[in-house]
Parts: sequence; structure tokens; C-alpha cells
Amino acid sequence: MHRSQLTIDLGAVRRNIRRLIAALDGADLWAVVKADAYGHGAVDVAGVALSEGARTLCVVTLAEALELRAEYPTARILVMSPLLPAEIARAREAGLEITVVDADIPEGVRVHIKLDTGMGRFGLSELLSAPGGNVVGLMSHLATADCDLEFARVQVERFRQLTEPYAGLIRHIANSAAVLHIPEASFDAARCGIALYGLSPFGSDPADDGLEPVLRWESRLAQVKQLQPGESTGYGRRFVATEPTWIGLVPVGYADGFRRDMTGTELLIQGQRRPVIGTVSMDSVAVSLERELLVDTPVVIVGDGLLVEDHARVAATINYEITCGICSDRRRARRVIVDA
Ligand SMILES: *Cc1c(COP(=O)(O)O)cnc(C)c1O
Repeated sequence: MHRSQLTIDLGAVRRNIRRLIAALDGADLWAVVKADAYGHGAVDVAGVALSEGARTLCVVTLAEALELRAEYPTARILVMSPLLPAEIARAREAGLEITVVDADIPEGVRVHIKLDTGMGRFGLSELLSAPGGNVVGLMSHLATADCDLEFARVQVERFRQLTEPYAGLIRHIANSAAVLHIPEASFDAARCGIALYGLSPFGSDPADDGLEPVLRWESRLAQVKQLQPGESTGYGRRFVATEPTWIGLVPVGYADGFRRDMTGTELLIQGQRRPVIGTVSMDSVAVSLERELLVDTPVVIVGDGLLVEDHARVAATINYEITCGICSDRRRARRVIVDA
């Protein structure tokens, strides 16, 4: 038996994509599958996205793009980060599209110029001259589509003004949050990541936005024992029993992506939420049990209504960071792909 199992439901990806395409009202959906599809597996997610009508695959590194190019020879693939000159040559050979963040536009490769409309990161603050023939797109990125719609709308308006003279180019600024809450941000295409995976860009319940989680993570109780008052579990003795306490050891730890700051989060055991206690180790966590349970009792870490968003709240982070941090090493966790 494996220490833990990750199940990726490509059917849920399909349904999330349909939901987003419906919200887009004619603009293209571009699937953001950087960082191994936020930990979900880029090649598999990209295949489903393309078959459901996503028009472009978006990644960040050249290596991510080349992996997808090998699988999908005719797909449109955009690298969203600036590249080094040697990388641009490789991108040209591989028929990739690249993002340029300054006035220096390379030849012989399809280019998207990035404008900084308020993110304060990469990009030009305005176009100084008309884009040349190999420029196919104008893009920008929203800083606050998940938390400050007013500022996001200022960015959208600025983008509209800057790009108005070049309406023949593909204009794209929207991310998942914008597709769901700022319809006027969609222009010609929207670059959606988090929502494909059925995760909420707002940190709330994805069902509120009609999204369905794609990832399920489960394990089991590898040992069950009772702590007597004064006995502790884990490094630093950060949980000390004050009464006889049944605990279960689950063979998943921070090396698997179960972060140390997830102490206090809950796991689902026999339909009940039970708290994680003590320090999270590299290879295991302890969970407090109501009573003695059998070894091998299933433990759901993510699934059956227990959300990545629930764990993110405990860890004071965002769902993005949790799934990107799940270890993809098959020597630690089994991966199963289903299409339900
Ligand atoms: C990651 C990324 C996205 C996707 O954002 P989501 O919030 O996951 O939809 C879109 N555009 C750029 C430039 C990105 O880096």
C-alpha cells in the first residue's frame, strides 16, 4: 500500500473549462498549466484543456513549454516570462510564442508584448511605437482581481486605452478571478489557471463559483496509539496529552507537501473532521482520534468536501501555494488519473 495517493480527475477539469468558456461569452480560454499545472500534472491537464477548446497553453519556463511541445506538436504555446537570448532561439525553433517586457523585440518568433498597467512587475508602461509584424498579442496582468475590483477595473481601463489602436492584435489581461467577476476584462482571451483546477481564486468554496475540485489526496492510519497524560507526540513536544488521547499516525509530511504550518488543520476520517496535532514531520503527521481505530483506516487529506482552501486558511496562505507544493515524486505518493 502506498503512503498516500493523489487522484486527478480530468472530468472535473473538463467541467471547469466548460464553466469558464460559458462565462467568457466568446473570448478564448487559454489554459495556464505552469508549475506542472499547479501540481496537477501539466501534460494531462493540457490534453484535456485542448480537447475542451482551450486555444493556447500558457507556461512560464522554456522547459515547461518544450515538454508540452513534445506532446502537442500543433498546440499554441505561450511562455509568459521573459527569456534569455539563447532560450529565445530555442523557442523560435520549437514554434513557441514568447512574452517580451521591453522595447527590444526579437525577430522570427511570435511575440506578446507585456504592458504594466498596475501590477508593478514585468512590462512596459506604454507602447512607444507601433508593434512590428511578428507581434501577435498585447497582454497585461491584474494585481487585485481577487480582492479589489475597483483597482482591477482601473487596470482594465488603462489596458483598454493603451491597446485600443491595436485592436487587430490579441489582447489579454484576465486571469481566473477576472473571468468570474469582471466580465469586461476578457477582451480576446483570458489566461485561466487556478479555476481549471476547481480551486477558488478568492480562497472561498469553489462551488460558490460553479467550480469542482480536481485533486483528491488520501492516505491511511499507519499506526494508532493512546497517549497517557503527560506524553507527547512529535518534534518539540508541541502536543502534550492532558488526558488519555487516541492518536493516529498518517504517513504524509512536509516532504510530501503537507506543510509544517498545517498543524491544526483537519483531516477526514470516517466522515468526521479530526484535528492534526503536534509538529508536522518530514514524513508523518499525527491526528487526534475520538476513539481507537483500526490501522489502515482511510484518511482523506483533500476531498469529500475537505478543501485545499480549508488547509490554506490554517497555513495563512493561498490554495495556489498548497497544490504547487505537493510533491510530484512518484516514489513518495502514488498518482492516479481518472476521467470521471
Ligand atoms: C499564473 C498566471 C495566470 C493565471 O492566474 P490564475 O489566477 O491562476 O488564473 C495568468 N496570467 C499570468 C501572467 C500568470 O502568471
